[in-house]
Amino acid sequence: MHALISGASVAGPVLAYWLCRHGWRVTVVEKAADMRAGDGGHAVDLFGPAVDVVERMGLLDRVTAARTANDTITLFRPGRKPITLATADVAAGISGRHVEIMRGTLAGILYEATRDDVDYRFGTVIERIDGTTALLSGGATIEADLVVGADGLHSGVRALTFGPERDHRRFLGAYLAVYTLPDVLGAGPTVAAFTAPGLAATVYPTLTAGSSRALFLVRTAEEFENRGPELLADLVGDRLGPRVGAVLEHAAAARDFYLDDISQIRMDSWSRGAVTLVGDAGYGPGPAVGGGTSLAAAGAFVLADELREVTVGEIPQALQRYGERLAGPVRHSRDVGPKVLDAIVPRSPAQIWATAQVMRLLPRLPAPVRRRLTSFGGGATKMLDGLELG
Ligand SMILES: Cc1cc2nc3c(=O)[nH]c(=O)nc-3n(C[C@H](O)[C@H](O)[C@H](O)COP(=O)(O)OP(=O)(O)OC[C@H]3O[C@@H](n4cnc5c(N)ncnc54)[C@H](O)[C@@H]3O)c2cc1C
Repeated sequence: MHALISGASVAGPVLAYWLCRHGWRVTVVEKAADMRAGDGGHAVDLFGPAVDVVERMGLLDRVTAARTANDTITLFRPGRKPITLATADVAAGISGRHVEIMRGTLAGILYEATRDDVDYRFGTVIERIDGTTALLSGGATIEADLVVGADGLHSGVRALTFGPERDHRRFLGAYLAVYTLPDVLGAGPTVAAFTAPGLAATVYPTLTAGSSRALFLVRTAEEFENRGPELLADLVGDRLGPRVGAVLEHAAAARDFYLDDISQIRMDSWSRGAVTLVGDAGYGPGPAVGGGTSLAAAGAFVLADELREVTVGEIPQALQRYGERLAGPVRHSRDVGPKVLDAIVPRSPAQIWATAQVMRLLPRLPAPVRRRLTSFGGGATKMLDGLELG
């Protein structure tokens, strides 16, 4: 049996790995010209069952060794003493099992683990799908038994099979921006955090000495077409103070500047015939706020599990079972993003004050109270709680 997967980031390689283990032949097409290994992209989180998936792939030691070292977070407020606490205390309520790693690093590890068994084609996209026959950019045709879109929020397979993105996306009323810049804050090995009503920024060191990465979350009811650094500058203004002003000055020069709306992908069903979606492509819970990496890894594992011993004719039923097993976690995941946004992008000065008090108290509170305060109303692990990996 032959699977054609679009997308080689998290869900794609995890699915490819397990399908190969179950005896499938796998081709992966990826839009990017090459593997974005190294510490590129942004930090992502593996929680609970997603850590189990990586462990079952025999990769937990490598993933843990490559994790980010953002062990403390420091909240800076104008005219006030900074407050520092351990990120483990903040993550305590989300999951007992948690690894933070740069997405590019994780993708690189997953690629290395699969490259000998999988036919990877970089700089390639699917241009047309007819049943399970796909026309690739460059002119090749692949006749697969299964076509999978693991190609993220702006999925090409979704657009070709289920119609335009606007029919499946729900805007959560916020934007996010990420880019790499020199270590202008000199804040050391800590995540420097800044907030103002409707705004949150963090700046953290990358694994490359002298370089750091900035992440901005901005609440706005309005949607924008033009998403360049000037939009970020307009949205943030000088509301986060001069230190963040210095960070913003580097946005225009950043080669990896990224600005996008925070939207969820909401579909009643993400399979049609023998075409399906996995990860952000089918059920993205909202970038940076929804635990999408864990859902992508766990979803890919479950999909492969359902395809373990099927014949070609049984694939649609297997995809239906995959949808049923993921329905609960996906439904739950839709509550996570708005709750996390509420918690980390304060709406008022009073909320900023309250957050600072919680940060100050957190290390001194008993573990159960600490966990409850940092669980974001159930959070990313809870959404995967009911998921049986089998
Ligand atoms: C700025 C930012 C911050 C984030 N922070 C966090 C976080 O803190 N914690 C967390 O858990 N998650 C976070 N996320 C979300 C996380 O990155 C995703 O949930 C996760 O990467 C989903 O994995 P995926 O494999 O489904 O899709 P993606 O990682 O989006 O991968 C899709 C892949 O498909 C490729 N592709 C795209 N279009 C095509 C096409 N037409 N044809 C072929 N290939 C294509 C892309 O190049 C990419 O390699 C963040 C996301 C962003 C953008």
